[in-house]
Amino acid sequence: MAGKLLIVGFGPGSAEHITKRAKDAIKESDTIIGYKTYVDLIRELMTDQKVVSTGMSEEVTRAQAAVRYAEQGRKVAVISSGDAGVYGMAGLIYEVLAEKGWRSNEGVEVEVIPGISAIQSCASLLGAPVMHDACTISLSDHLTPWPLIEKRLEAAGEADFVIALYNPKSGRRTRQIAEAQRILLQYRDSETPVGLVKSAYRNSEKVVITTLEKMLEHEIGMLTTVIIGNSSTFLHGDIMITPRGYQRKYTLGQEQQRLRPHERLRPENEPWALHEGKKEKVDNSLQQLAMEAIAAIDGKKTAERIQPPGMEMVFELAVSPGVAEKKFTPQQLLLLAELAGETGTIEYTPHHHLLVKLPGVDMNETTRLLLEAGLLLHPVGDVVQLKACDFCDGDKKDAIPYAEGIQERISGMAVPKELKIGFNGCGMACYGAVHEDIGLVFRKGKFDLFLGAKTVGRTAHSGQPVAEGIEPDEVVDMIAKIVDEYKQNAHPNERFYKYFKRAGEVYGFQHRDYAPVIQLEPAPCGE
Ligand code: SAH
Repeated sequence: MAGKLLIVGFGPGSAEHITKRAKDAIKESDTIIGYKTYVDLIRELMTDQKVVSTGMSEEVTRAQAAVRYAEQGRKVAVISSGDAGVYGMAGLIYEVLAEKGWRSNEGVEVEVIPGISAIQSCASLLGAPVMHDACTISLSDHLTPWPLIEKRLEAAGEADFVIALYNPKSGRRTRQIAEAQRILLQYRDSETPVGLVKSAYRNSEKVVITTLEKMLEHEIGMLTTVIIGNSSTFLHGDIMITPRGYQRKYTLGQEQQRLRPHERLRPENEPWALHEGKKEKVDNSLQQLAMEAIAAIDGKKTAERIQPPGMEMVFELAVSPGVAEKKFTPQQLLLLAELAGETGTIEYTPHHHLLVKLPGVDMNETTRLLLEAGLLLHPVGDVVQLKACDFCDGDKKDAIPYAEGIQERISGMAVPKELKIGFNGCGMACYGAVHEDIGLVFRKGKFDLFLGAKTVGRTAHSGQPVAEGIEPDEVVDMIAKIVDEYKQNAHPNERFYKYFKRAGEVYGFQHRDYAPVIQLEPAPCGE
């Protein structure tokens, strides 16, 4: 009777992460062949099987023994950690069989049982670092010539793959990991997140998050997998995240702004894709690749980031001449025109801003130039925006310091959904403060406060007047606290008026239903 070869990947090493089929295969077998440490890891699952355990470097002997036993009619489980098809025993066994002239429809039966490989188990402990196109490279040059490994590192670095390095280092092989770092630093920022996972899901598990530059300062050994992020990978606390797609836009205070789901598939947001069968011209030259980097907003780091081919970052922000000032100077407009160049855009928005999209510019330098020209800069996205009036061209200037106070304290702050604060300098309120999420009207030396206007849609309504005669000295603090309450408690994407209604009160102000009582068909844009 012909025997059977069960080639089993048992996953990272804990009982919970072995598949049911792998467990059954071990039970089903009468002989187990594997490296000693691995046999010890699965000992709990074994019954009375014969164990043939060998040392690490005897893989070929192991494979030959396994085939021999199977040919004698035994059911042999050959065990590999992770997946048996990833630097494991599956290939070797098939090589031995192929050499003997074995055919899949005759001779011993072979079943390869998949397992969770280190790239997956280690990634899960780091967050979501793989997520996008990734590759595994083994740094072991025992069976592979080093020049070929070097070539693969170069290729993976250039093509912006997330990389999982297997067999990164051993007692005798210590230079390989340093060489790998040197090669990858030619293509990736020194701050690229790197995760080091030792013995994932085993007793001696250790997880370290570091950077490409600093990774060699930490312990790396035989049981470590090194996961190197791509050019978009970022850290959120100690979680490593590689976004699903590449983003093109960044704005103040947020280096990379994710496109909202419905915006993603528009052709203009995917200039790198193959549209209608036509490939956009992509310049692959190294010079293009070495394009000036996105600099971090905080000014602390001016990262030289090399961008994948075909991807150009666009710096997007809103500008205005000032809080109360509504007139641009010709110099300011000239500067904006120059920065926008041939392909940038300058868009006039309903919010007293020019929305500018500046491709391929350096963020720090551009920010400096715009500020120097006297422009006020605003981030784009779900942030607090102050919409002040022009204070009758500055004639009614008493309230201006309070508008500036609000601007300074909370404007640009990230909130669950865009939030506009209307600020009008007299009771005429001609800039429509009462139609904003939060409205302030200065009248007879004091402020009136309106909350929860529904600013758009066919069921739009003005805000609810909640207080009159607020002392000017209290107003900045009060608005900051209202915004903070909303920020802390609102659901993601919940507009201020919805939050006010759901919560029933904000800052002690009770919600009253202020919406018009007319029944309308739902509006087409999700209103
Ligand atoms: N077949 C295995 C890989 C064997 S090569 C798999 O699919 O995972 C051996 C290398 O795998 C080690 O040097 C290490 O880089 C990685 N590795 C295997 N198990 C691991 C674990 N539990 N934690 C971290 N790395 C592991």
